[in-house]
Parts: sequence; C-alpha cells; structure tokens
Amino acid sequence: MPNSCPSFALRFLAPGCICLAVTLAPGALAQQPHAAAVHPAKAAAGQSVPALMVSDIHFDPFHDPAKVPALVAAPVSKWASILAAPDSADQPQAFARLQESCHARGVDTPFVLLRSSLAAMKSRQPDAKFITVSGDLIAHAFTCRFATLVPSAAPGDYQAFVVKTLSFVMDELRSAFPGAPVYAALGNNDTGCGDYKLDANSEFLAQAGAVFAEGLPAAGRAQAAAEFKATGSYSVTMAAPMRRTRLIVINDLFLSVKYTTCGGKPDRDALAGELDWLRQQLAAARKAGEKVWVMGHIPPGIIPTPRWPSSATCAEASRR
Ligand SMILES: [Zn+2]
Repeated sequence: MPNSCPSFALRFLAPGCICLAVTLAPGALAQQPHAAAVHPAKAAAGQSVPALMVSDIHFDPFHDPAKVPALVAAPVSKWASILAAPDSADQPQAFARLQESCHARGVDTPFVLLRSSLAAMKSRQPDAKFITVSGDLIAHAFTCRFATLVPSAAPGDYQAFVVKTLSFVMDELRSAFPGAPVYAALGNNDTGCGDYKLDANSEFLAQAGAVFAEGLPAAGRAQAAAEFKATGSYSVTMAAPMRRTRLIVINDLFLSVKYTTCGGKPDRDALAGELDWLRQQLAAARKAGEKVWVMGHIPPGIIPTPRWPSSATCAEASRR
C-alpha cells in the first residue's frame, strides 16, 4: 500500500504502517445470486460487516538488543513475557548502535507499540468479524539485525527466528480478536533468506504456511497450508458473515523486479506457476458464482516518475 492514509484511517505502528477500521458497505457483501434475483433490494439492504485491514506492521523483536538471546532460545509462547519485561539499562544506546550498523531509517514497531496499537484497534472496532494483514509483518533490515546480534547463528537459525516472529505477530492479532479469522499475506520482508528473496517449494514456505493457516476458517485450513507451501499464496472461502466470497491471497513477490531466489537467481517457473494458479482460482470462483477479493503485498502498477526505474512496481516506490 502507498504511504498515504484516507481520512477515515487509523494510522499508527511503524512509519508506513496502515490500519483501517472499516465497516463494509452492503455492496461489499457478497450477495447470494438466488436471493438477489428474488429480492434484490432486500439482499442489499441494511447489512454491514465490521472488519480491520492492516498492513506493514513491521514488528521489531530487536528493539531491546539485550533480549534477543532469550528470544532466540525461547519458544514463541514465551516471547510476550520476555518482551513485556523492563528494557535493559542500555537499550537506547544498544538500539542506536544497531540502527547505525544496519543503516536503518526510522524506528519499526516494538512490543509496546504493537500492544498499544492492538488496544486502539479493539477500541475502534471491537466487533471486527475478520482482519486482513497485507504483508510485512516483520521489521526492515531483519537479516542485518539478526546477523549483528546473533553472530554465532547456525544455518537455519535465521529462518527459525523469522518464522517465530511471524508466529508471534499472528498470535498477538488472534488473541486480541479471538474468533475472528486473520487473513495474512507475505510481504517482501517476510522471508527466510532476506528482503525480496524467496525459494518456491521451500521449507520456509511450509513453516510460514502452517503459521498463517492456523487462524483461517477450519474448512479451508489444510488446503490453504498445502497451497502456501508451493509459492506462499492461498485461496480461502471467507467465513460468515461474508457470503460466497473467496479471498485469494497472492504472494506477488515473484512479480517484483527486485525478486530473486535465496541464491540470487531469477525464477521464471515460480512466476509462471503463480499466475497459472491465480487463473485457476479465478475460473473456479466464476464457476461457483463467488465474489472474489484478491490481496497481495505489492500493488500492481508502474511508477511514472524518473526517480524509479520504469519497470519498478508502484509499491516499490512507497516501500523500503
Ligand atoms: Zn513494508
């Protein structure tokens, strides 16, 4: 999403993060074709669905560097108590050093801001029926922060830490809104090997898919996890009160000009497979008479300004 906020938006969390507390107009509800055919006015009248739409949370588990060894060692179920403990005495200096060595611009979302944002979301939309998160759950410069603070990491430790961070953010959202499905997409930062890098059919995607599928409507969970494993995309029927609505969550990282595999190579097969899968999902939805929402992290489009390469996508102008 671009770094702009409509007037009705709540804006908080890290710079660039957007959260909308919305009440969907009746027209945004999927109408049951048969009911609409018999009573078109009735089908559209007086119904709304409160929901929350969040993007670019950029949660930063490195905000107090002294806590990082404990976070690495602990299961994610212990993270909240570690993060809620008072900051170490030299947190400002240690964090400033980390920012400098990773050339970080701006401060991402520490635990205290995540919790206060969730509280604000609850007060603004206490009855949210679902939440969408359109990617970038983890902090910028994640690879540098991890390498600086965990210099003796073994292969696989980085990926495990990313998955734990994704899991923590999803758990926080689910516990703040129990019972509301959280539909989340991967962003360019949310990968197991670095910004804009990802391998299709990888162990990282299998693990992240299990995390993301956990809070989906039960009927679509297994299928979504299986689809996610291939490219990080999935398709799910949205839970009631949405009706006949399919949400297609696309991992559009493969479409970015900055995308490479973890080994730094292009992967045109992954891109072609992704687009084939999208066509199949749209065709199946059409056949089933479903409305479709498509959610991804990087909006499609081009940047017409000379500051960016003409092939850069819209999102790449607004993201770091
Ligand atoms: Zn972002």
